[in-house]
Amino acid sequence: MCALTFPVRHYFRLAIPRPLGFNLAMGYFTDALNRRLFKRRCLAILLLCLCGSLTWADYLEITLLGTGTPRLSAERYGSATLIQAGGKYFLFDAGRGAVIRLHQADITPDQIEQVFITHLHSDHITGLDDLWITGWIYQRPSALKVYGPEGTKHTIDALRSMYHKDIHYRTSNVRHEHAQLLSEEVTQGVIYQASGVTITAFYVDHKPVEPALGYRLDFGDRSVLISGDTTYSDNLIKHAQDVDVLIHEIAGSDATLVARNPRLAKIMAYHTNPQQLAKVLQKTQPRLAVFNHVLLFGMTEESALAQIRQDYPGRIEMGYDLMHIQLGEKITVNTLP
Ligand SMILES: [Zn+2]
Ligand SMILES: [Zn+2]
Repeated sequence: MCALTFPVRHYFRLAIPRPLGFNLAMGYFTDALNRRLFKRRCLAILLLCLCGSLTWADYLEITLLGTGTPRLSAERYGSATLIQAGGKYFLFDAGRGAVIRLHQADITPDQIEQVFITHLHSDHITGLDDLWITGWIYQRPSALKVYGPEGTKHTIDALRSMYHKDIHYRTSNVRHEHAQLLSEEVTQGVIYQASGVTITAFYVDHKPVEPALGYRLDFGDRSVLISGDTTYSDNLIKHAQDVDVLIHEIAGSDATLVARNPRLAKIMAYHTNPQQLAKVLQKTQPRLAVFNHVLLFGMTEESALAQIRQDYPGRIEMGYDLMHIQLGEKITVNTLP
């Protein structure tokens, strides 16, 4: 670990052993000596909590950490989408470079405690080991839990086995519970419910990859749907009704290229082209559609968007890494600095 690049605030964190309950208890004890101040602080905290819960229930944030594909790109890292809701982070897929993008978003990997994998194609999981181990180094307070389709348990068991030496070395001087990596295989239905957040998994069509999942996150009146990799899917459309933000993969290709290249034709067949996307959007009418997993051959991003706009007049955006979406009464789209 390079001492020059390791942020000072993390040295500070490492210097203070968790739990921090002792410090908090001492703080309250001191405050209690001055009852009037203590009462005022309690009232302020209560008001903050009340205001916070009212605001939180109507607001969430989405950060596109990776909008790319298996193809190498310095601009588009592997699939990874982060949603912040109810004071918690929910990461969907952990493709190439997910931890670096988190770092750019000023989020340390220990803050990620749950990951939802859409399917087990490598471009959706190659950042998983980095997230797990680096989060351990940063003192993740609990296990990292990975939800995913059938096959996820085998993958996670294999990761533990692959890193058995590293785990052995590190557990000799670091608490072992930070290293825990748990898995849960899920099928279609509600798979997570806590702190007002509901996450529903649903099947998409990425044959021959089966099962492949999409996820919908609902928080108060707000909702986000992540397609994962899929071609046109009626089941996705069913689950995307009334969704605020639809994050959908896109794949476009010049027709002559596809006609000449059978391998490309096979790839395009299990992704969603601009014409199919326009149909999905006509049938779901999200407040905002954002495209990720951008796979274009012989076609520019502008021409792909123009094709969709021919058949769908709603708000659409081509996603890019570190695109930051604030979802409340209004939806604002920015780039993280
Ligand atoms: Zn895939
Ligand atoms: Zn993919």
